[in-house]
Amino acid sequence: MNDALPGILYIEDNLDNQRLVQRILGNQGYHVVVANDGPSGLALAREMMPVIILVDLGIPGLDGYETTTRLRSLIHLHNVPIVALTADGSPGARERALVAGCDGYLVKPIDPRRLPMVVSEFIAGHRERVSVPAEEADLLRAYSQKLVERLEQRVLELSAANAELGELDRLKSQFLSTLSHELRTPMTSLMGYLDLFEQGMLGPLTKEQQEGLVVMRRSGETLAQQLNNLLYFQELRGRTMDPQMLDPIAMLKPTFESFQERARGEGVLMDVVTCQAAPILADAKSLTQMTQALLDNALKYTPRGGRIRLLFHDEPSRFILRCEDNGPGIGKEHLEKIFLPFYRVELPNTTVKPGAGLGLAIARHIAEAHGAQLTVRSQVRIGTVFTVVFPR
Ligand code: ADP
Repeated sequence: MNDALPGILYIEDNLDNQRLVQRILGNQGYHVVVANDGPSGLALAREMMPVIILVDLGIPGLDGYETTTRLRSLIHLHNVPIVALTADGSPGARERALVAGCDGYLVKPIDPRRLPMVVSEFIAGHRERVSVPAEEADLLRAYSQKLVERLEQRVLELSAANAELGELDRLKSQFLSTLSHELRTPMTSLMGYLDLFEQGMLGPLTKEQQEGLVVMRRSGETLAQQLNNLLYFQELRGRTMDPQMLDPIAMLKPTFESFQERARGEGVLMDVVTCQAAPILADAKSLTQMTQALLDNALKYTPRGGRIRLLFHDEPSRFILRCEDNGPGIGKEHLEKIFLPFYRVELPNTTVKPGAGLGLAIARHIAEAHGAQLTVRSQVRIGTVFTVVFPR
């Protein structure tokens, strides 16, 4: 956009009119910015400081009257003239436009010789007014009634759309639930047979076959974990916790030790800083699942040569679990969204990691079911810290 020239915002959906006005007023040294409808006109108006706004009253969606009323509420446009440019020359149309907030009313067809002069008059301060005050009050009442009717109609449309979305959501959940159950049965027999092969119970294996089995086992475990997440997520709402007083660090030891082994295999250094912890009231299975989700992410996103730290800290009033990594970090704009189900950050030029975007949604649900808080701090290229605080 050419900022040196005085800007005109023209809200109009007709391409011929857009071109005509751009040509006429462009020749007069104005820069005409066009918006095709009310909402994009409003968005542009929030960013620019036009010397005048021209609005076609017949634009679709939010109509020209409503757009004008909304423009009028923008403080920085308080002194900017808004002029209706319309094909509607019917009686009362001009007054209706003025009541909605317009300062002038030009009937189409556009007169190329008059338009520059009229525009410069409005820019210089000319304003049209409704002549009779009583008439203005009546018009105002009628206009607000029309607005309320439109609002009511929109609310009805939105409610219907919302009900439809709710039904689609229910169907999607049902589909996911069926799918995950259907997949679990064949998965169990696949993993069972893998065990038998690995234990040599189906005959001796060559070295190549054993190497193949290692790859199959790794992929199978990733698949099983995704499936577990999906099932767990589907059953979240109906799931009851079984809280017991337990030593959280002793309970989580097998979990973090197996991650330490995995980290070694993947060339990532993993430290665990434990402490003497008093028991907390927790559901063992869920607590394990939450810790697994955090460690699994730390390991998944931290590249070879990186570092992970799992830290426990005990205080009289709370117990803290913290999972730190020096991986790629998470951009500010994603920080709260990563806890939403199915939300994943996919960065260009990076290899896509396996996952369905459920790990953190589940982890947060588990934390909240324990009255705990799961929060994240992160800096791009520096690393990420997830903290869970359990109040006592
Ligand atoms: P998933 O890992 O299956 O995609 P999650 O719900 O566990 O789903 O995580 C959501 C998103 O948050 C991930 O896609 C990833 O972009 C980001 N994320 C989570 N943990 C980390 C981490 N430790 N480092 C960088 N990004 C992370």
